[in-house]
Amino acid sequence: MKANALGRQVEVLLPTAVAHGFDYSVPDGMELSAGDIVTVPFGRSESLGVVWGAGKAQIAASKMKPVAICHEQFAPLPETMRAFIDWAAWYNCAPKGSMLKMVLPVAEIAKEGRIQFEPPPDNAMQLAPLSPAQQQAADTLAEGLSKGFSVTLLDGVTGSGKTEVYFDTIARALAADPASQVLVMLPEIALSVQSLERFTRRFGYAPVIWNSDITPARKRVGWQAIASGQARVVIGARSALFLPYTKLSLLVVDEEHDTSYKQEDGVIYHARDMAVARARFEKFPVVLASATPSLESYFNARQGRYKEVTLPARHGDAVLPDIELLDMRKPIVEKSAFVSQPLRAALAAAIAKGQQGMLFLNRRGYAPLMLCRTCGHRFQCPDCSAWLVLHKSKNKPAGLPALSASHGEGQETVAGDNNKHRLECHHCGHREPVPKACPACAAEDSLHACGPGVERLLEEVHEFLPQARVAVMASDSMDTSSNLSETIADMTEGKIDLLIGTQMIAKGHHFAGLTVVGVVDADLGLAGGDLRAAEHTYQLLHQISGRAGREQLRGKVYLQSFLPEHPVMKALLSGDRDAFMQAEMEARERAEMPPLGRLAAIIVDGAKEEQVSQVARQLAAAAASEQKLHVLGPAPAPLYMLRGKFRQRLLVKAGKSINLPDYMRSWVGSVACPSSVRVRIDIDPHSFL
Ligand SMILES: [Zn+2]
Ligand SMILES: [Zn+2]
Repeated sequence: MKANALGRQVEVLLPTAVAHGFDYSVPDGMELSAGDIVTVPFGRSESLGVVWGAGKAQIAASKMKPVAICHEQFAPLPETMRAFIDWAAWYNCAPKGSMLKMVLPVAEIAKEGRIQFEPPPDNAMQLAPLSPAQQQAADTLAEGLSKGFSVTLLDGVTGSGKTEVYFDTIARALAADPASQVLVMLPEIALSVQSLERFTRRFGYAPVIWNSDITPARKRVGWQAIASGQARVVIGARSALFLPYTKLSLLVVDEEHDTSYKQEDGVIYHARDMAVARARFEKFPVVLASATPSLESYFNARQGRYKEVTLPARHGDAVLPDIELLDMRKPIVEKSAFVSQPLRAALAAAIAKGQQGMLFLNRRGYAPLMLCRTCGHRFQCPDCSAWLVLHKSKNKPAGLPALSASHGEGQETVAGDNNKHRLECHHCGHREPVPKACPACAAEDSLHACGPGVERLLEEVHEFLPQARVAVMASDSMDTSSNLSETIADMTEGKIDLLIGTQMIAKGHHFAGLTVVGVVDADLGLAGGDLRAAEHTYQLLHQISGRAGREQLRGKVYLQSFLPEHPVMKALLSGDRDAFMQAEMEARERAEMPPLGRLAAIIVDGAKEEQVSQVARQLAAAAASEQKLHVLGPAPAPLYMLRGKFRQRLLVKAGKSINLPDYMRSWVGSVACPSSVRVRIDIDPHSFL
């Protein structure tokens, strides 16, 4: 008989959108404890689930279905983990079962089968020698190990060797306890080919990889390795946070400021914040690493809530690159071109010396907008409030190199006939061919592509650097991760002279020959009035600048801007990040915005416009009038229509003393809502679209 067995009726939580568990009977001969992973009948099928506690429902024993299987090969979810799930569901105003879905992501995980994990050989580890500054940082981080919960902000300029520092901490955590596990979270696992290779090189074995793209079969192997404690180190995207580790002893959130840690679909949550919460429940240290910390973490460090470890200098001989602002209001750019003369000259000079260049523009496709020159008609998505983006490149068949590194093929791509061109919605994926004539006025040959996307830059580069080997890196040109690793390898080996890309090129990559980085539109992220626009633009531009001159060669960064006086541009030029952060913090304080105030959003959507606005109006009317709480809206969302649904938003500003999740839940619960309208709560919203 198992200890703490619960009796003959248990509550089982299922990984589906339910707020609480269902009661099941325990068949003779089976003993169940809280946390056990089970299979139960559900509807006409069966489902995995977790025993959440003793059953409470008043149901006749004959009507209650019995638990089918207890998966004894898996350790039960510990009490701390269950408490974390309960808390995360409460905090994010999400159904508890939806949280459990992230613990038990696919049914395959319970399937039996051999998983073989080679125990890592002890002598294979080859950590890089640390500089005195790095050693000091590593020693400070190590002090936090096995001392329970703590959060440390590892704040180091790009190229200062943050990764090597936390590798050292990981090695110490693993050595201190042979049962311990370490999780390293990264923003986008597909972008981390280099970091995985680096890990394998240092530790002598490959970590378990976890992201949403891996196959169910690989998920099963990875999940079982994690749940059995065989996986010592896991490198994963945000969803890796919720897996049933047997003994986490350290969690590293790398690039902690990255916006992709906020999940916007399904359960809305912030993985960095949830990582800190899980660490508090399970009492282990968290390291938040970044060269450009989020204002939230920066604020917590200033307040003394987080410890802070800084790495001020670039490692070795590398120095931070010079930054030059190119004022695009001046006549430095040719008509209908997007790359200015000084930037062209710098790229040409670098490539002539055998060095490499990079052009950054956070826009996929050829042109962000197409309009008719005769009547002004603009092409809009039929299902979204968004312009259609012109794409010219062909979709490359999978398995082939995704890019045209040769000049010849690039010419063919951009000069292809209109049939290959298409208009695409970047919100819902809607596609249509480019018509011969304007659909509004029937004028022929009147359609005009406005503004640049990365494909258009490629065309321009071929004109002013006809001999250069150029590649484009954007999510739609990299349809497989092997394409991506191939491009990164080509760039690393110097087979590419100039890499053009969206924010995929901004993160983490280390290219020794790269000396000139051009930001084509430094102002792009500042548009839109998002509360974090300046902060995110600063972080992104700083990150891109950090790609240049990472080794012996000195790097230079060119920012093309129409707003050279903007505080973000000034901060980048002067390199005075702390002054910028301080100014941002004061602005947020005046506006009572996060991290000094709290926000929550309500998003109402549905296919019937009138129903949606009616529910939104009712919500506004039902808002309890409380001091220190301010309800704004309803207002049509900036993306008023998305995938055929109409959207209204409300925003709540609240003081820190308010129990915001409870308030939001009871407020939303007080309004009757037809099933065709969906109301979602977003605590600490990052997107305001
Ligand atoms: Zn027209
Ligand atoms: Zn659309």
